[in-house]
Amino acid sequence: MSQGVTQFLIGGIRVSPDASNEQILERARQKMKRADISVASLHFRLYKKSVDARHRDDVRLVCTVLAESEEVLSDAVRARVLRQPDVRALTREELNVTKGDESMNGRPLVVGMGPAGLFCALLLAEQGYAPILIDRGDCVADRVRAVERFFREGVLDTQSNIQFGAGGAGTFSDGKLLTRINDAHCTYILERLVEFGAPAEILTRAKPHIGTDVLRVVVDRMLERIAACGGEVRYRTCLHALTEYADGTVLAATSGGDIPCSSVVLAIGNAARDTYQMLITRQFAVEAKPISVGVRIEHLQADIDRALYGNFAGHPALGPAEYALSDTRGERGVYTFCMCPGGEVVAAASEEGGVVVNGMSHHARDGVNANCAVAVSVRVSDFEPVDGNVALGAIAYQRRIEQAAFSLGGGNYSAPIQTVGDFLDGTLKSEPSRIQPTYREGAFVRVADLSKTFPHYVTDSLRYGLRSFDRKLAGFACADAVLSAAETRTSAPVRIMRGENGQAIGHPCVYPCGEGAGYAGGITSAAVDGLKTALHMMARFAPPQ
Ligand SMILES: Cc1cc2nc3c(=O)[nH]c(=O)nc-3n(C[C@H](O)[C@H](O)[C@H](O)COP(=O)(O)OP(=O)(O)OC[C@H]3O[C@@H](n4cnc5c(N)ncnc54)[C@H](O)[C@@H]3O)c2cc1C
Repeated sequence: MSQGVTQFLIGGIRVSPDASNEQILERARQKMKRADISVASLHFRLYKKSVDARHRDDVRLVCTVLAESEEVLSDAVRARVLRQPDVRALTREELNVTKGDESMNGRPLVVGMGPAGLFCALLLAEQGYAPILIDRGDCVADRVRAVERFFREGVLDTQSNIQFGAGGAGTFSDGKLLTRINDAHCTYILERLVEFGAPAEILTRAKPHIGTDVLRVVVDRMLERIAACGGEVRYRTCLHALTEYADGTVLAATSGGDIPCSSVVLAIGNAARDTYQMLITRQFAVEAKPISVGVRIEHLQADIDRALYGNFAGHPALGPAEYALSDTRGERGVYTFCMCPGGEVVAAASEEGGVVVNGMSHHARDGVNANCAVAVSVRVSDFEPVDGNVALGAIAYQRRIEQAAFSLGGGNYSAPIQTVGDFLDGTLKSEPSRIQPTYREGAFVRVADLSKTFPHYVTDSLRYGLRSFDRKLAGFACADAVLSAAETRTSAPVRIMRGENGQAIGHPCVYPCGEGAGYAGGITSAAVDGLKTALHMMARFAPPQ
């Protein structure tokens, strides 16, 4: 006898959307019986569920069931079970915290309350490192007020907006948690999110999402926990400069005064252009990286459901349909990104004189429209250096597009929009009709020629992509779908170079992390990177006295 595996995952269970939970579990029991094991000694529960909509007349749920044994199984029985097709052992990677012995001259400072900064500060606080956590923006409630004022009146708060403030860029989002990184820490992140109020279904869905309404509650609770564990949370505190001393201490100059600290985590997100500028001026190794730019497209969610689910459209077990499409034109990729079923397009500017669009949904995803970015890849060679610096050129590239959208929109943070039919034909004949834009409730949009927002290769690739995607998803390029510009903040334009130990090259007390540093893309991967940054710091330092 041995203590080994007592949890098995039974996959490959394909059922109709009408199947009940019990029917799914019964299919798993049948599979286990083939291993000649008493199923009465196993506890079964649904582990993961995804939708296979490749054939719209035969949409299926694809399920994985977890079977837990109440008894310790012999090696022979375990081996027999694991020989069954579609059965594998569930292995978990526990968080492996090791603490170093280098002394910390003061508390660690974490800059940024997005997923990276929050998860970094949470782990540091829980392990006794008493971090100070700052963000240039407001707490969730005040930030919501600032964002709503911007939507209503067009008054932009450059420090507290869709990009900046408690929870970071994803607070006003669909809260999609799917990530392409294959990292064992993802489960830890999801479990902690559930602990702080996210629905438990995120643990079982193949494409989990939280929704902006629930995410706001989760962020508040995480911040409360950080404070309860000895962390200190300061809002409206913007990092302006860093001075590093030979004794290993750092002085962070902020809008709230100087903060002496032992080390600094830069979890600043991809919109902190002034902070990038400061780091470049201070000789940090900051490199330009490829980005993507494009538009948001809006359809009726009901049309997308019909196109993907056929007769199953609207089935409660499926929820609103999602898609992800891609193609290449020459050397440029064009792809859909960050689809928000039942969502709305949000005004995501953080700088004066620029219009930025993005998407968000509530947990219920019950809005009339579906929206999604259609983005074209941009290479580092597309950037013109500014003052001889390509990283600054990458930022200037994004800014130029945002400013063009601002001026096309009329200069009052209205978004320029165009129907897909007109965009493809290069005309300006129609107003939105069947599909109404949702940017600032549709009250602040202006019909315009969106090709004027982008370099010609982006416009050409967008047209190519729309036509290509229409062949893959019927109706994608329907004439009355609505485009809005400009989608520019899909990822960080630069990377703040760091070593294997998480430390910025040449700046051992500074830890760049998350999306802004160029090492993550999306909520879950940024959170994982924040977690790993905390692990790096703890492996080096003993907790401060
Ligand atoms: C509208 C919208 C919808 C999105 N939807 C999704 C989605 O559904 N799923 C998904 O995975 N991703 C989504 N994203 C992307 C996702 O939000 C980011 O990938 C993620 O938030 C990055 O996390 P981060 O912690 O690295 O940075 P951020 O979340 O950007 O956080 C950085 C924080 O640092 C603060 N900061 C910056 N500079 C300073 C400074 N100098 N001093 C103090 N504070 C500073 C900012 O105020 C900000 O709060 C969306 C983004 C937006 C804008």
